[in-house]
Amino acid sequence: MGLLPQGFRFSQASLATAEVCARRFYLRYLARLRWPAAADPAGLAREKGAARGRVFHHLVLQHMLGLPVAAEVEVQQDPVLARWWRHFLQYPPPGVPRGRVFAEIELWVPLGPWRLRARFDQVVLDEYGGLCILDWKTGSPPPQGYLGSWQTRVYAFAGSEGGALFTGSGPVSPEQVSLCYWQAAHPAAVQWYRHGATAHAEVRAQIEALASRLADYGDREQFELTADHGPCRTCEFRAYCGRGEGVGPGWEEEGEEDEGDEGLAPPLEPWG
Ligand code: SF4
Repeated sequence: MGLLPQGFRFSQASLATAEVCARRFYLRYLARLRWPAAADPAGLAREKGAARGRVFHHLVLQHMLGLPVAAEVEVQQDPVLARWWRHFLQYPPPGVPRGRVFAEIELWVPLGPWRLRARFDQVVLDEYGGLCILDWKTGSPPPQGYLGSWQTRVYAFAGSEGGALFTGSGPVSPEQVSLCYWQAAHPAAVQWYRHGATAHAEVRAQIEALASRLADYGDREQFELTADHGPCRTCEFRAYCGRGEGVGPGWEEEGEEDEGDEGLAPPLEPWG
């Protein structure tokens, strides 16, 4: 029997992690090991960046709910955050349809014995039944870099499969799903993605293949260390793997994406 629990909730972050390194997936999502990143200078920078990103997302949500935001921006006394907020007000992503708006929605869709989780910053259901997913980026990678990412694949797939949450009736066809990345630091660099039936089938096959491989692993050793040492340089587990000390500079994900993957089952013993 494999170590992956029935009903495991895959997310774009956990799928991306598994693709990079099966051992990192094991340590992060099954053993649920947390490296004391804050003790490391790079970890401190990461925590600060992730915290600012969370505040920004919170401000957007307040704004969507019609609550005042300006005073909260002022209180933060963070010029970067203040600039992001100005960008948000002055340079909204062009081309977003009018329609019913949903903010901070989490969606789970069944996928064989597992589930797939997506958390959307904002979704607009237009009058023709089209679903436009908006994602506010506060990390450093340019939005173009997300086009082939697991986030794009998972969000578009989940938006279509779980579209009934928004339509109140049935799923949304893949052709009617679009995704827009807007970056707080560079609001002009908007990136759109249009989903479709072919891409939808490919994403399903990719997720099932990766999840099935992980489900076959019966002990920790089968979650192999990546042969490419490149990802180890920015990995919080590199000391565990004997591939360096500390957290390493940079990070691959915005921290908030991982929240909600915990509490599935008691964590496995990392060395078990
Ligand atoms: S240090 Fe390298 S091998 Fe170990 S979990 Fe991280 S990426 Fe994988």
